[in-house]
Amino acid sequence: MPSSRTTPRRVLIVEDEPEIADLIALHLGDIGCATEIARDGLTGLHRAQRQRYDLIVLDLRLPGLDGLEVCRRLQGAEDYTPILMVTARGEELDRILGLEVGADDYLTKPFSVRELVARAAAIFRRVETLRGLRDEPSGETLEIGRLSVDPNQRRVAVGGREVSLTVKEFDLLVRLVSNPGRVYTRSQLLDLVWGTHHAGSEHTVNSHINRLRSKIEPDPANPQYVETVWGVGYRCHPSPAAVETSP
Ligand code: CA
Repeated sequence: MPSSRTTPRRVLIVEDEPEIADLIALHLGDIGCATEIARDGLTGLHRAQRQRYDLIVLDLRLPGLDGLEVCRRLQGAEDYTPILMVTARGEELDRILGLEVGADDYLTKPFSVRELVARAAAIFRRVETLRGLRDEPSGETLEIGRLSVDPNQRRVAVGGREVSLTVKEFDLLVRLVSNPGRVYTRSQLLDLVWGTHHAGSEHTVNSHINRLRSKIEPDPANPQYVETVWGVGYRCHPSPAAVETSP
């Protein structure tokens, strides 16, 4: 797919296996990325701290500093850089941990080149959409099922009954309800609601979502409005009425 960008996207590949690193570099090069390779975690971390990248492809098992530690140390950096974590087959726990520490997506070895390119392209799209979404929501009253959200007056009602939300709970809700069906990762929500300089962790998002649900959901254990997308994040159900009427 030809790119309309004038500068190539810069990708840092942190991978200690030369053949895999070269393979990743080759195929990301094919879609117009400028790639750099770091062979160990510490080198990767230092480069990521000094330069801007559009994506970091980060191997989990690395000599010295491992991928999780690199991920953790990059969290809270001033510039948000998406991370595609590469894990070996069977590292299920690590895979989930990787998402908890802020990886945007993961790929399991052995992976196909098509899969790698598709994941990277999806991350670029998400990040670019996210940048576009920094513009404030439209300000119109948003109605989803029995939920009504007025961004101007910062009022929320469920079935006509007004609900009192904290500032962050409200901002989270507006963000989700403005784009029904769209899945947001916890890091995206942190970025959009708390700002890029936030000190919070993804658990901050989880706990706010739980409190928000306890206030707006008829049954918080079976949320109709704010759904968990397992392993990814949250979304506003695009048609909660359908859920309400289902047996
Ligand atoms: Ca490795």
